[in-house]
Amino acid sequence: MLHVKNLRCYYGRIMAIKGVSISVRRGELITLIGANGSGKSTLLMSICGLLSTWKGEIVFEEASLKGMDPPAIVRKGISLVPEGRQIFAPMSVLDNLKLGAYTRYRRKEHREIERDLAEIIDLFPILGERAGQPAGTLSGGEQQMLAIGRALMARPRLLALDEPSMGLAPLMVEKILDILVRLKADGLTILLVEQNARAALKIADRGYVLETGKVVLQGTGFDLLSDVEVKRAYLGKDYEEFYEGRG
Ligand code: ATP
Repeated sequence: MLHVKNLRCYYGRIMAIKGVSISVRRGELITLIGANGSGKSTLLMSICGLLSTWKGEIVFEEASLKGMDPPAIVRKGISLVPEGRQIFAPMSVLDNLKLGAYTRYRRKEHREIERDLAEIIDLFPILGERAGQPAGTLSGGEQQMLAIGRALMARPRLLALDEPSMGLAPLMVEKILDILVRLKADGLTILLVEQNARAALKIADRGYVLETGKVVLQGTGFDLLSDVEVKRAYLGKDYEEFYEGRG
């Protein structure tokens, strides 16, 4: 469904992604993990058209995304849940959700938009309860749900998420990741960038580990979870051994 080949991304003269290749098949949940600054957000932004200074290939459903702007990419079927949620705080929860469908109003899909709105409120009942209130008054977890709901309002075939668990309490993280599992079960393809590597690998079909702009490891979620290097670098293996040793 998505093929990224030999991608190199630039911020001025600095190359932040140095020849990355990844693929996402229809129906998969793929995670990108790696330390701060390893290039995860840069990769997602390039796929979603928010960064255009890249070389290489990004192909989605057989079509190159080179030169496409973000609205065109949304229309093609990719939605982003951005890092830090980026909800429109003074606007109501309902208006935030409707904005997610901005590429569809021109196509007069009003009835379908209403149906999708009802489905999203079914998925996140709290958004229905808070529909009229300013989005900025929601809790962090509720704002994350809103950001996901807003992205879903575009009816994506590929949902890209940039660190949805950031700043959330463990229970809320679990809730958000459960939602992703449900969306995948309903047929959505998911590309998940996460700092919370253990939680992401547990639900992922496959994962890629990025380090300073390169893929250094890839494999199934299960294999990466048990990989010694991944454990040492990203999953806090030393602590685990410490506690197991005491246990
Ligand atoms: P984090 O988890 O902290 O968001 P990340 O893995 O998503 O990290 P990126 O944000 O993609 O990493 O950053 C990759 C590299 O590009 C880093 O070295 C970063 O300093 C650099 N970088 C990111 N944004 C810019 C920018 N606007 N201008 C210059 N360099 C940037």
